[in-house]
Amino acid sequence: MVRRQLSGRGITDERVLAAMAEVPRELFVPDELRWRAYRDGALRIGEGQTISQPWIVAVMAQLLELTGGERVLEVGTGSGYAAAVLARLCEEVVTIERHESLAREAAARLTELGYDNVEVRHGDGTAGAPDRAPFQGISVTATAAGEPPPALVEQLDDGGRLVCPVARGGRELLLRLRDGVEDTVADVRFVPLVAGDEDRM
Ligand code: SAH
Repeated sequence: MVRRQLSGRGITDERVLAAMAEVPRELFVPDELRWRAYRDGALRIGEGQTISQPWIVAVMAQLLELTGGERVLEVGTGSGYAAAVLARLCEEVVTIERHESLAREAAARLTELGYDNVEVRHGDGTAGAPDRAPFQGISVTATAAGEPPPALVEQLDDGGRLVCPVARGGRELLLRLRDGVEDTVADVRFVPLVAGDEDRM
């Protein structure tokens, strides 16, 4: 996976490549899909949600430019896989998931695997985690309409990096924000970011 899907396709951060090689992706997917865990795509994980393609997890981690001392916020825990990758790259991760069952399963899995620097929260991630802000990195793994949620931008530390897929003009673009400057990096596909009151959890 690392050689074919990542280092050949623009992932150059050695720490990211090492983290992707170390986290056992097969333990984050449903049993019956384990044989497909290392394929070059997303997989279903229940509640109509997905675990992201390995390449996109690596791209987002690389864009955060982590060196080890950061506190990182993830919105959209899903399986907990990306949180596990981030946990190997920074000091601590706070990750928020709106589906209670997914949050519970991800928390249990991360604890079992020994990721003791990840805090999983159940709730609406568009509000961020003001009690733990500021964050040096923020990763949103569901697509926002137009712009990243303003509360997340506010919780970004000076010089911090935020990555978030946004829907604009019929496209889904991965956006990175750093020092108030926006770059769009790639066309992507994620599930929609659902704000707390948009439907029942
Ligand atoms: N990072 C995940 C993939 C996440 S898929 C992994 O590695 O497996 C996107 C997730 O975002 C879904 O689980 C979805 O339920 C969640 N989500 C969508 N809107 C959200 C919100 N407002 N707050 C928290 N989680 C949200």
